[in-house]
Amino acid sequence: MQKKTPIRKTKIVATLGPSSCDKKTIKAMTLAGMDVARLNFSHGDHQSHFETLKLVREVSEETGKTIAVFQDLCGPKVRISPIVGGEVKLEDHKKIELRYLRDNEEGSEEALYIEAFDPVKVIKEGERALLADGRILLVAESVSETGVECKILAGGLLRSRSGIAVPESKLNLDPLTEKDLIDLEWAIENDLDYIALSFVQSTADIVKLKSLIEAKGKNIPVIAKIERASCLDSINKIAEASDALMVARGDLGLELPLERVPGAQSLVIDTANFRGTPVITATQLLQSMVNEVRPTRAEVSDVCTAVMDGTDAVMLSEETAVGKHPVTVIEVLDRILLEAERRLFLSDYQQPYKSADKNAVPDAICYAACGAADKIAAQAIVAGTQSGNTARLLTKYRPKQPLFGATSVKHVLARMALFWGVEPVYIPLKSNSADEEVEQALHAIRDKYGIKPGSRVVVTAGRTAKQSGATSMMEVREIPRD
Ligand code: PEP
Repeated sequence: MQKKTPIRKTKIVATLGPSSCDKKTIKAMTLAGMDVARLNFSHGDHQSHFETLKLVREVSEETGKTIAVFQDLCGPKVRISPIVGGEVKLEDHKKIELRYLRDNEEGSEEALYIEAFDPVKVIKEGERALLADGRILLVAESVSETGVECKILAGGLLRSRSGIAVPESKLNLDPLTEKDLIDLEWAIENDLDYIALSFVQSTADIVKLKSLIEAKGKNIPVIAKIERASCLDSINKIAEASDALMVARGDLGLELPLERVPGAQSLVIDTANFRGTPVITATQLLQSMVNEVRPTRAEVSDVCTAVMDGTDAVMLSEETAVGKHPVTVIEVLDRILLEAERRLFLSDYQQPYKSADKNAVPDAICYAACGAADKIAAQAIVAGTQSGNTARLLTKYRPKQPLFGATSVKHVLARMALFWGVEPVYIPLKSNSADEEVEQALHAIRDKYGIKPGSRVVVTAGRTAKQSGATSMMEVREIPRD
């Protein structure tokens, strides 16, 4: 089946959940433009995630569209214990105590219980606690032996097991919980394409996760979820240690005053763009579409801002996991992204070289390839790649032309589905010659994507097809006529 030449550059990540775990919906979402599927391990069990994964792989095979699947580890999300009767209404200006859960106590309007840490040891007078996604705000007034007495600054309805954030308090929770370690085993066994680590605090967290994956003999790239305010100070180091970043605006918006979230988003995206690290902007992009068939004007502008900021991908959470319109929301997002991207390419091609390392040969080749493609008005840029690295480096320079990442390595194919503008193309490796690899790739993009015979394309590759990370060649080729 001939595919359309890819036009949209920004990738769509969709969280799969109860609204979107049947084959028909997954197929419709794929045809509507889903590039990456997220399995959220804050919900569901191994069996249900396994069924969903199987369906995504089947749909990918049937439609010929490469879909990357990633596991989002739950991490140490702090929650309150169950509440008597399931929920409680907290009244403005009243008092409530935060206590350590010792013996399965249930919360009430007098006290709420926390399992993950002892509030007496962590929360100091004057520090805040946010509940119910930030709608409920408490401030600590005094700390006693039994608990932290708080004033309710903004009340509301609070449900059992709601998340609680204490942005000013020093929490030292390991980002890999016992549950995460069990879930990680599952991801490794099932060859997921990426693993996302929640509540990253420092590069050590990424290094630890990578070593656990390596110890199992696998090499699965890691996405660092940026949702702790404290890790913004070391974002450059975290980007260096990670394979991709996610601006997790949900939890970040509890840690930071909301008005600082857009600045944090730009900082993370800028850092990622400079390094060529893929970055996902997540949470509440089209939140109203959980129920409605049309987004709000502000949501459309928010998506557009993420594109103009330079995000590689945008992520839908509740919209596709539990929303009423999991397919429509992708169709709408696809249209918004395409329109936003038109604005990216209005000016002449003037990308600055982005590397701190002047000896980085593959990066220099990719920079030259994008410049050459612009000068000769090439119809495409093709990266022959064994690790995905060349395709990733090309994205740093945001070329207008369709970017094809041609590889004979199946798991690299899926990884490239997250990269800005990269269309993964599978080429079974027939020889160890780079030239033959390039020929195969050119035939594939002619036959599969309708790039016209005789049109000019810029090609990058290494000298030997099997060697990864050795991009050393750039040339202008013609799409074969025979
Ligand atoms: C977020 O906080 O924005 C996020 C993506 O993480 P989670 O959905 O796991 O809370």
